[in-house]
Amino acid sequence: MTYIIAIDGPSGSGKSTVSEILAKKLGIEYLNTGLMYRAVTKFFLDKGMDEKTDDQILIRLIDEIEIDFKDEKLYLLGSDVTKDLRNDQITANVSWVSAKSYVREKMVDLQRQIAKNTSFILDGRDIGSVVFPNAKYKFYLTASALTRAKRRFDQGESELSIEEIEKAIIKRDDYDSHREISPLKLAEGAILIDNSELNIDQTIELILSYVEKTDVL
Ligand code: C5P
Repeated sequence: MTYIIAIDGPSGSGKSTVSEILAKKLGIEYLNTGLMYRAVTKFFLDKGMDEKTDDQILIRLIDEIEIDFKDEKLYLLGSDVTKDLRNDQITANVSWVSAKSYVREKMVDLQRQIAKNTSFILDGRDIGSVVFPNAKYKFYLTASALTRAKRRFDQGESELSIEEIEKAIIKRDDYDSHREISPLKLAEGAILIDNSELNIDQTIELILSYVEKTDVL
């Protein structure tokens, strides 16, 4: 029997690090859905589009996008762009892109297709609420905005200070939580984990303690 683990939460809550390690421990696949929205953002920005671009133009463009995963890398139209997706420009634009209904429809279809016949951990904002509402396990990871900003700063992928990252995180949380379609929220049946005071290993142990209670392992 295959099963799905949904891990949702705001930026810097440790979702992707935790999900990647957890998937290896459980011997199942991992899909980082945030990277997919970042790839669409890169595609739009590379074409000179911005928040004010007419929807009709973006709708035509979204049809051209092809996203594939191979060996934990994301390929956009056949090119490996994994390392180009976390810069400040993409981070600053990904929220308006991911709020578009036609972008979400295409990404959600792709996510369901990828995770169809195999056990998967997916991390994102709407996995437990929209993509896989019947997931066997649902977790919602969070931490204080300052803790999350410090984690992002330590990853060294941003040119901003901790204070600037914290501000950007609060802005993105607000945008992601208040958009009309699939806002970031605690899904029904999800277990809330605030890991402000926990490290990655402790967070993983906690999640495993819930998963191990049932029959998967
Ligand atoms: O997880 P990460 O911070 O890389 O996600 C980038 C952005 O992609 C989020 O701020 C959110 O706007 C969007 N996203 C989403 N739904 C998902 C995953 C990410 O809307 N399932």
